[in-house]
Amino acid sequence: MAELPAEVAYLDNAASTPLCQQAAEAMAPLQRDLYANPTGSHRMARDSRRRIDDARDVMAEVLGCEPGEIIFTAGGTESDNLAIFGRCWHMADLRGAQGVVSEQASVPVCSAIEHHAVLEPVERLGGIMVGVDASGTINLDALASELSANTAIVSVMLANNETGMVQPLAQVAEVVRSAAPNAVLHSDAVQAMAWLDVAAQAGDADLVSVSAHKFGGPKGTGALMVRNSLELSPLLLGGGQERGLRSGTHNVAGIVGMAAAAEVVLQSRAQQVERVSILRDRLVDGLLAKVPHTVETGDRSRKVAGSAHLCFEGVESEALLFLIEDVGVYASAASSCSSGAQDPSHVLAAMGYSRELAGGSLRLSLGYETTQADVDLALSVIPDAVARLRDHASDALAM
Ligand code: PLP
Repeated sequence: MAELPAEVAYLDNAASTPLCQQAAEAMAPLQRDLYANPTGSHRMARDSRRRIDDARDVMAEVLGCEPGEIIFTAGGTESDNLAIFGRCWHMADLRGAQGVVSEQASVPVCSAIEHHAVLEPVERLGGIMVGVDASGTINLDALASELSANTAIVSVMLANNETGMVQPLAQVAEVVRSAAPNAVLHSDAVQAMAWLDVAAQAGDADLVSVSAHKFGGPKGTGALMVRNSLELSPLLLGGGQERGLRSGTHNVAGIVGMAAAAEVVLQSRAQQVERVSILRDRLVDGLLAKVPHTVETGDRSRKVAGSAHLCFEGVESEALLFLIEDVGVYASAASSCSSGAQDPSHVLAAMGYSRELAGGSLRLSLGYETTQADVDLALSVIPDAVARLRDHASDALAM
């Protein structure tokens, strides 16, 4: 195995966060001792069920809804798919049942900067994508012009996973209410949970997606908040768990771990936002000062606290990530799912960035465990790495 660097700065928390101690402690005994299926009738099954009910109460508190409005899923991707397909299929079924073709809304609409877990279902259903401005904020006039009585669902994320930009959800809700009378509002709050009061900021949404591993919980667990009055078609059919919306045996330890992490978020978010945004500002200001021809994307005053996102002119992200990894800085270029496949970022393209500049993007995402030492390490290695790559590129041109 390759030798590991002496120090490591993990600056990829938007891809996944470390499991917090409270979640790990809550999960360990469950995995070992409480293995009964929570749908059963014996004592151990009832005990499992109780743990899920307690977790549901916590998730309801953090998302600002009734416990019965929480649907446990296997993560953000499933929650997003359930919201979009579930709503559109339900409307299409209604249309079939009532024999009405044109008057039932079944068209999904989303912003052009959504995660692929929203974009692809919307594309698959022949939906509409709405543009953003240069800061990466949804264009509300463009949104209004795309909405009609045929719109079934509008999906606008609370915080973007590449730039960290927070979207004006209350204003989006107003536009939806006035221009799309049959639509419901979905918000992907996967990147917002650690930093924003989702209950307040997504309070106007009918559907909200979250994913545990983005806020200190385990991977493979998430939730979709579904307002009680709202009907969806399920993606998975079977035992009828979760109000029939998500069949399949519950991941009890995962659900309990997610709730434990959510409790930590409720208790510590305000202090963490203050602490981490100072570190983030130091990191971004330091890089802007040390590395010429660098562009910070978006508008920092409207980003979540952990998000730093920059584009370095004349550099390829892939090469930069490789160099900085070697000296202990772990980061990513675009979203976690698309790095590896070096497609240009659809988010930066929607913001009007050229392919060349977008090709030099770097996402440094801080989290609850990020320290001053992590920032110092990043500040000491990234400027050199960028300079080396630029020198290399100009040598190659001169040859
Ligand atoms: N939505 C957003 C905004 C994300 O950033 C991600 C993951 O990066 C997802 C959805 C998918 O979540 P999960 O990894 O839990 O499937």
